[in-house]
Amino acid sequence: MALDELYREVILDHYRNPRRKGVLEGDHIHAEGQNPSCGDEFSLDLAVEDGKIVDAAIQGIGCSISQASGSMMAEAIVGKALDEVTDLTHNFKLMMSIVDGENPVDPDRPGSVLGDLEALQGVRRFPVRIKCADLPWTTLEDALSQVG
Ligand code: ZN
Repeated sequence: MALDELYREVILDHYRNPRRKGVLEGDHIHAEGQNPSCGDEFSLDLAVEDGKIVDAAIQGIGCSISQASGSMMAEAIVGKALDEVTDLTHNFKLMMSIVDGENPVDPDRPGSVLGDLEALQGVRRFPVRIKCADLPWTTLEDALSQVG
């Protein structure tokens, strides 16, 4: 299977079966984001304890890129310390900003194992869609800015 095809399968799987869809009960922080250029909406509930994300729930409507990115993000951040999540966000946005070339792994930001998220790197060839992929991460940054 060609890599592009594999990536497309991963994106469609997350789009059709979003992970951690829903809302959180109990103490949590909440953030919402929109990408008007595509009509994507995304909302995020995060439970943070002792500097670590212990639970996350997502809701959204929009294109497959935005919703798959949110699903992969929710899966990637639970169980991680906040500084790891900050590094992951940095590295994801770095990946999306580089046109072709190798996967970026910023050596100074080690929390960078992107896993399934690498499936979104093909999106960077379509600049208008980069905002779709970035939406959940921008929403995440908004949520994290509310932490202590
Ligand atoms: Zn979109």
